[in-house]
Amino acid sequence: MDKIQDCGSCDPGSIPGGNAHKIFMITLLDKAENISPIAKKLSSKLKKIGIETIEDLIFYYPFRYDDFSQIKQIKDLIPGDMVTISGRVDLIQNRRSPRQRKNITEAIISDKSDSIKVIWFNQPYLTKNIRQGENIYLSGKVNADYNTLQMISPEYEKVKNFTSNTACLAPVYHLTAGITNKQIRFLIRSVLPLAVNIIDWLPLKIKLDLRFMDLSQALRQVHFPENKVKLNSASIRLKFNELFLAQLQTFIIRDKIKNSLAEKVEFKENEIKSFVSSLPFKLTDDQKKSAWAVLKDTQKSYPMNRLIEGEVGSGKTVVAAIAILNTVLNKKQSAYMAPTEILAKQHFKSLQELYKNFEIQIGLFTRTEQKICSEKKKIKKNDFIKKIKNGEVDIVVGTHSLIQEKVDFKNLCLAIIDEQHRFGVEQRKSLKEKSGNKKTVPHFLSMTATPIPRTLHLALYGDLDLSIIKEMPKGRKKVITKIIEPIEREKTYNFIRNQINQGRQVFVVCPLINESDKLGVKSVKEEYEKLSKKIFLDFKIGVIHGKLRTKEKEKIMSDFLTNKIKILVATSIVEVGVDVANASIMIIEGAERFGLAQLHQFRGRVGRSDFQSYCFLFNENLSEKTQERLEALVKCNDGFELAKIDLEFRGYGEIYGKIQSGISEFKIATLFDYKIIEKAKVSAEYILNLDLTLNKFSELKKKMDELNKNVHLE
Ligand code: ADP
Ligand code: MG
Repeated sequence: MDKIQDCGSCDPGSIPGGNAHKIFMITLLDKAENISPIAKKLSSKLKKIGIETIEDLIFYYPFRYDDFSQIKQIKDLIPGDMVTISGRVDLIQNRRSPRQRKNITEAIISDKSDSIKVIWFNQPYLTKNIRQGENIYLSGKVNADYNTLQMISPEYEKVKNFTSNTACLAPVYHLTAGITNKQIRFLIRSVLPLAVNIIDWLPLKIKLDLRFMDLSQALRQVHFPENKVKLNSASIRLKFNELFLAQLQTFIIRDKIKNSLAEKVEFKENEIKSFVSSLPFKLTDDQKKSAWAVLKDTQKSYPMNRLIEGEVGSGKTVVAAIAILNTVLNKKQSAYMAPTEILAKQHFKSLQELYKNFEIQIGLFTRTEQKICSEKKKIKKNDFIKKIKNGEVDIVVGTHSLIQEKVDFKNLCLAIIDEQHRFGVEQRKSLKEKSGNKKTVPHFLSMTATPIPRTLHLALYGDLDLSIIKEMPKGRKKVITKIIEPIEREKTYNFIRNQINQGRQVFVVCPLINESDKLGVKSVKEEYEKLSKKIFLDFKIGVIHGKLRTKEKEKIMSDFLTNKIKILVATSIVEVGVDVANASIMIIEGAERFGLAQLHQFRGRVGRSDFQSYCFLFNENLSEKTQERLEALVKCNDGFELAKIDLEFRGYGEIYGKIQSGISEFKIATLFDYKIIEKAKVSAEYILNLDLTLNKFSELKKKMDELNKNVHLE
């Protein structure tokens, strides 16, 4: 039986007011699947998109809205319009299309001005839901068929006081296969009355000062906005909630870190200078400045917490290498963490190359592999762990699993994390526990290619010092980006063949085909078949994807590095950090499936040498909108700008990797909400000034404790 019982005299889920009629026996933490038979049927799908409880459902925000709020007269319709009409059903009937073996439901809808034909495919039950003589709303696109206007598969709803799908700003949610927007709207609408039970933890003073709408009202408006003005206020309120918590967290952490100690690392000036002059290239000024800032930070007796931000290819690794070397010269250990195994291995190799004139023990530690540079054979995991604990390994390069595994250091003094915005609180805590010295915290350095403007950075991550590497190494040429139309494919392949004959190499990135193919194996294999059998018969082609065994991946990467493989077909696995200077062409298939910021990262895999590099976006019949979106990549070379443009095109939710706020991901706030970030910062400061313990704000304190349950920085 449904847990929400309807009194029979009101529409299920009508809001507000309707809730007075209902008998609620459910709470926010109850399972979403118990609210109705539909929810039960969809429960596994709901779980897939992260919805388990009723509260999850309420906080599952739409990422955009279809504006069906203006009702148009039928006589005013123009082909191509996205509209809502309201009219009477003059006729509705099913017929079979003999050729296509499809069921077709046809209807004629009239309003005072005119009538229009409407068609749905393969939904014969519609004649039971929509009856002749009824008044309905229809929302969707107007098409022209031999000069007669018609609507194909529009959303429909009976005329009533409230609507979820038509005649309104209709919310659009991120979905997964087997679940529709209409279903999510229905489920959310049915539990929304419960939003009044959600505790509004924002201190009253702030709510009043900023004239915020009530939390429950904001939640209702964000799902089913009455109008754009209310939607805007609701979204500001909900964004503020997330940003305010993040700011509070930042201030609290900063306060704690200020009081913690780190070991001083002496600046070994002579050795470092001679190392820098032994490099095969001259450091750029920005590289020098960042390295200098890091070395200065680590001389202090409190922990460094610095982020180096530099576009892809700007040379961040060598800055890390300088800091690590200085630490080794002080007879202390460093850890260097990368987001993928491929990248960890690449760093392991680069460091060996950079330190070839030094006797330094570098270790590689990933989930599947442990190695020490001085030893030919692989080393047993436990022996390796012992060596780290005894201080016999100076540098451990690894994936983030380094943090998770039972690795303890003798005296970890410097921890570096590559390609992430910042150390999460949790990561800092566990590294502290591993550092070998219970009284001190390691110095932290993070590096990212995700550019964030300095002012925004300060507002977001006030606890972090920032170095920016803007200048690219000398001789780099801008990557030429082109959208390749289907008819230009052949010509482009010829151009690529020519480049390979001149010694260059090529990346081919393939999109994910469907959800079940998370690692893109299918599309990669198909592309490989096509290229090797039909297009580049004369070149060696390699394939890399996440499902390969570590050994296989390694072999392929090393063959690509040594130019044995000319073309590497890959999934988005090559997105971050991979450095193959001789590769000068990046082909991206199905470019429209990726976000612009991500495409920009792919593009960063080429253009890492003096050769002119190219990024080709291959596409099949793009829509105008997608074409326009991809054009941005052709024109713009700034990752932050691109992310912003993407946001405008695709709505929030699909942004900029995952912006970590230290406690939780933002669901609705984005990096571009400058004004709200600023407000949240001022408000958080204000509240903490009133009471650092938050005891005076008991609901807020409870909320923070709940978020911090697992993350505590001593
Ligand atoms: P990223 O900032 O993306 O991590 P890397 O550190 O991988 O970039 O550097 C990209 C390439 O540029 C590497 O091959 C590196 O050796 C080279 N490089 C770094 N600094 C310089 C420099 N000052 N001059 C010339 N090449 C450099
Ligand atoms: Mg890098």
